[in-house]
This record gives sequence, C-alpha cells and structure tokens, in this order.
Amino acid sequence: MRQIDFTNTQVASSETARNINRGVVLNLIRKRQPISRADLARVSGLQRSTVSLITEQLIREKWVVYGPTGRLPRGRRPTFLRLNDRRGILVADLRPSEITVAVADVNGKFLSHQAFPTAADPQVAVAELGARIRHLRESHSDLIFEGIGISVPGRFDPVTNQIVFAPNLHWPPFNLKEPLERATGMRVDLENAANACVLAEVWFGRAEKVRDLVVVTISEGVGTGVFTNGQLARGRTGMAGEFGHVPLDPSGPKCTCGGRGCWEVFASNRAALRYYHEESSAAPDGPTFQDLLSLADAGDALALRALERMAHAIGRGMRMVVAGLAPEEIVIVGDVTRQWKRLGPIIEAEVAAASLVGNPPRVRPAAAEPGMARLRGTVALVLQKHFGPSGHTSPGRARAGKRVHVRA
Ligand SMILES: [Zn+2]
Repeated sequence: MRQIDFTNTQVASSETARNINRGVVLNLIRKRQPISRADLARVSGLQRSTVSLITEQLIREKWVVYGPTGRLPRGRRPTFLRLNDRRGILVADLRPSEITVAVADVNGKFLSHQAFPTAADPQVAVAELGARIRHLRESHSDLIFEGIGISVPGRFDPVTNQIVFAPNLHWPPFNLKEPLERATGMRVDLENAANACVLAEVWFGRAEKVRDLVVVTISEGVGTGVFTNGQLARGRTGMAGEFGHVPLDPSGPKCTCGGRGCWEVFASNRAALRYYHEESSAAPDGPTFQDLLSLADAGDALALRALERMAHAIGRGMRMVVAGLAPEEIVIVGDVTRQWKRLGPIIEAEVAAASLVGNPPRVRPAAAEPGMARLRGTVALVLQKHFGPSGHTSPGRARAGKRVHVRA
C-alpha cells in the first residue's frame, strides 16, 4: 500500500505492533467466527504462539469466548473462538422528528429499542436521551457496555464536538457529547448519519472489499457519506460530503440551509411531497411520504409521477458525486428504496448518462433496512477502535501490519 500522508505516520513501538495484531485477530474472529487458533494463525500470517497470547488476553478482557467445538474426522478437536455476545453497545439515531435508542450486542444484533419525539430544545432532548439510555442500561444489566454511539442528522466539528450544520434539526450550535457523557458516565461517539451508514455497509454489509464508496441518505434531507481510499472523508470542521446543499438551480425553491435550489430541495422526501401537491387537490397537510409510497403501490398515477420526478433528481445530483469522486459503488439509504424496482432503473440511467469513461458505478439500496442502517453504523462506530482502522482489515493488510511504519 502506498503511504503518502507522512504527517500521520509514526515509528511503530512494540506496543503499537501488539495493538495492531490484536485488532487484526479480533477482526478475524468477528468475520469468521467460530474459528480455531490454528486457522487464525494461518489466515493472519501470525505465529501460533502470538495468536495464543493475543487470544488469551482477549478472553481475559471478555471480548472473546470459547464457542462450539469443531468436529474433525480424526485427531483432536480444536476449540473454536467467537465474540462474546454479552458485550453490549448503546446506540441512538437522532432525527429531526424522533430519536430512537437501542441496545445491540457486539455482533450488531438488536436486543431492544424504543423511539420518542425530538424536543425542540436540545437541553431537553439530551436530558431525555440520557434518562432513556440509563434505563436501557439498567434493564440489560447482564451486558458489559462498551460505550454510546449516536448518529446525528448533520455535521459536527470533531474538535469542538459542536453540531455545526444540521439545517433540518433547527437547533442552535450545540455540544451533544459532553452533557450526555456527564448524564450517563459513559464515552459518547458521534457520527454524521450518512457516515454512519457508510460504517454499516463496510462493517456489516456487502461492501467489505470496496475502497471507494458513497452513501446517499434520502429522508427529510439528502446526506452524503464519502468513503475514499478506504477511509471516511471528513474535511475541515467535519463538513466533507455536503453535496445535498450544492445549488443545482439558483432560481429553485428555498432550502432549509438558506440557499436556493439545492440538490436536497429536488431529491428529498419533502421534494416528492411537493411534486405531488403541485398536481393534486389534496389538503396541504395531506399524505406523508409513507402514504405516498403506499399510494404508488396502489397504482396512484400522481404519486408515481411524484416519485419518478424525485428519482430523476436523485440520479442527476449523483452526477456531481460520480464526477468528483469516481466511486465503485453508490449506496442509497431511505424509504424511497422500497420502490427500488420502479425507481432504481431511473436513478441508474441518470448516473450512466453522466459517466465519462468506462462503466458507471454500481447504484444499489443499502444492505440494512432503511430504519436500521444508521443504528447499525453507530454500533460499528463504537466498536471500530478495538478492531483496527474502519474494521476493514483483510488478511493481506494484516500482514502489512507488521511493517515498520503504521498509520497513527
Ligand atoms: Zn441547501
């Protein structure tokens, strides 16, 4: 692997090398469980004695437990290892209309979840969120909790922890992390919703080997998470990926960001409702986006036309993404994917029309259910620091971990 960014490079101490190897082994157990120590050594390229030392430490730390015993035709039976599903993670998906809190195990299996309306005042919302999280933790007292992961509908500055840009949330700049850490006594990790969906794809989904991927979340707004060269792009003050607020038509409708004619204004769920109302006589508080999908299922011509206009706008905006980032895959997260059979080909055709060289990127719906992608991503957000960078370590890169220079 070429190493260009030397500012993030340091000489590896023996402790750094140990930590890398530990992450590699833990990640292999996660992906291939149940797995024997012999197979761990074979796949990782590490010596068996090193694998034994690391797995003993992981068992002591309660990350790993003995799993089912393998049945071999002859000889001794190896003891298999798996992740300890008594390790839990608390996660929340903060949206403009409601907040979902949930408990997941280390394999991303959800054990319970609940939702409540998002308060207009961030202080009230944080107090309520803290109380719900404490209650969930108490009702799962058999779990060892690793931390709290939260998906936010906007961008936050990783230096100040302030939510700096969340036009659909209508909150003033606000530090969500520290008050929540005080309220719960646990570490809180925040992530932009679209970035969380990138993590869900890379960690739990079908994108394990993809190095250049863009996730587009379509809900009240349009968010973009950029995974480039195997890393999440963040940019200055965490603002990378705001394609949703690039004006495509400066004379278009007003946007919540203060601009006009942004991609979001033409491609979001709210845009589809606006298209519907332009043609129908329904009351202004008429159908919700879910209703629009049901109407389309029932063959309602106006609903179908509104969704098709939305799909064209989604695809046309993706041309910016394709021209700027040349991803291998574009993954769409949102309820709109429930109509993928009808709308997918429209989006694909718009993207293909903009392809400059070779085949256009694959465009597909997310692996997880629209409602679950953000929550799954926040599970990965909390876990990833134990499993190596982005949890993306392949056996080939596992061997690269023994090199002298490593990314800090
Ligand atoms: Zn905008």
